[in-house]
Amino acid sequence: MTDPLEERRLAGEAVRVVADAAGPYLESLATRPVNDAEAAGLIDGLGGPLPEKGDGTMESVRRLVSIGTAAATHSSGPRFFHFVVGGTTPAALAGDWLTSLLDQNPGNWIASPLATTAETVALGWLKELFGLPESHGAVLTPSATFANFTGLACARHWWAERHGVDVTADGLAGLPPMPVLSSGYVHVSSRKALQMLGLGRDTVRRFARDDSGRVDLAAMERALAELDAPAVIIANAGEVNTGDFDPIDAMADLAERYGAWLHVDGAFGLFAAVSPRTAHLLRGVARADSVIGDGHKWLNVPYESGFAFVRDVTRMGRAFGAWDAPYLPGAGDDHLNYAFLGPESSRRARAFPIWAALRAYGREGHRAMVERHLDLAQRLGRLVEEAPDLELLAPVRLNIACFRYHPPGVPEDRLNDLNSRLGAALLADGRVYAGTTVYRGKTALRPAIVNWSTTEADIDLLIKVIQDLTPTLTP
Ligand SMILES: *Cc1c(COP(=O)(O)O)cnc(C)c1O
Repeated sequence: MTDPLEERRLAGEAVRVVADAAGPYLESLATRPVNDAEAAGLIDGLGGPLPEKGDGTMESVRRLVSIGTAAATHSSGPRFFHFVVGGTTPAALAGDWLTSLLDQNPGNWIASPLATTAETVALGWLKELFGLPESHGAVLTPSATFANFTGLACARHWWAERHGVDVTADGLAGLPPMPVLSSGYVHVSSRKALQMLGLGRDTVRRFARDDSGRVDLAAMERALAELDAPAVIIANAGEVNTGDFDPIDAMADLAERYGAWLHVDGAFGLFAAVSPRTAHLLRGVARADSVIGDGHKWLNVPYESGFAFVRDVTRMGRAFGAWDAPYLPGAGDDHLNYAFLGPESSRRARAFPIWAALRAYGREGHRAMVERHLDLAQRLGRLVEEAPDLELLAPVRLNIACFRYHPPGVPEDRLNDLNSRLGAALLADGRVYAGTTVYRGKTALRPAIVNWSTTEADIDLLIKVIQDLTPTLTP
């Protein structure tokens, strides 16, 4: 039998196994393939029956570290361009380890003044970074999906109140459907949030000028005028296919004119605020009622690092607080209790890696990183335009280049299949990772540059791997 109590002195040694592996692992990310097909078989080593008699701390940790460092998708390295995935800067990684070491619960102030304060400070710094009013309420969430959930739950609370209903106490019964208006850029995550809120994923009305999804403001305005009822507008700051933005300021004007709630999904686009080259894309964001972002993307902190900002902190308290449980702090408590401001109750101290990263690199360090990525995306766009068999499908506006393989003479009706196969070949090759999407009916690659350690050589390798693979594909 292995009782953890008997092994209590091994904690330091066990953590050292991870720490000793960290340096070589992180070094290796610069050159190893994103996906190492040969190591995939090692994943089976995780299986087997639940041990009756445990392996003991050291054996178990060594096994996990050995399988993990070999068989992980090396997505925290510089050549993972799939989805929108950042890595983990050194300060963020160390901050995250401290989260587990201290094992705090910043749900209630009284459970951890330290972690609660770190959360308040980190959220305050993020507001400064993004140019949001200091007075906004804020909370850290497990992800951007949960952050969208938080902002839209506050929107729902506001909307129900306009109909004379306290949705926190009484639910949705008897209310009409909540009108939600957006552009064609609305992300699945906002729709998932609406689905979880009982508002329906498919109720979002999308007003788009064309098949790119760009907003049709005039049509949205006509719909708001016809509705003549409280509504919610979702603006999208950073669309995943091309990195484009909805015109937030103009949508804030509409929200003001028609008394609507404006929610901004800025999962990664919010970071455009840190560079004067792109800050204009977010003009008007400070006027929104709720705004969200995602640290695991462009902040390069580990997963579980979403954040939601809501203009009226008391709205957050009314949407998520008031549990009426005698052992919990009450509404009269002077301190912020984050469990009352968001969907979670007990929660990990996810502020530590964010605090560490912001303290370590400051506004200038994050601006340098974002601007490097803007430059790299421009370089990628240039290389695509220079290649006779690649076709750029949208201007490079931020950190994403959307393009496809289009060899001269191959008819349009063959290109989607050809590009799907290129996408699959790229993932199987594993040297770089980039996924396909469908943009304006065209299957395309849309590498997103988000990792703090990506350099020009990684961008050049992406193009080289594509050029290595395309001759193997018959059109
Ligand atoms: C990534 C992303 C999300 C969802 O992020 P998760 O962390 O996966 O929940 C939401 N909106 C946009 C625009 C995104 O890019």
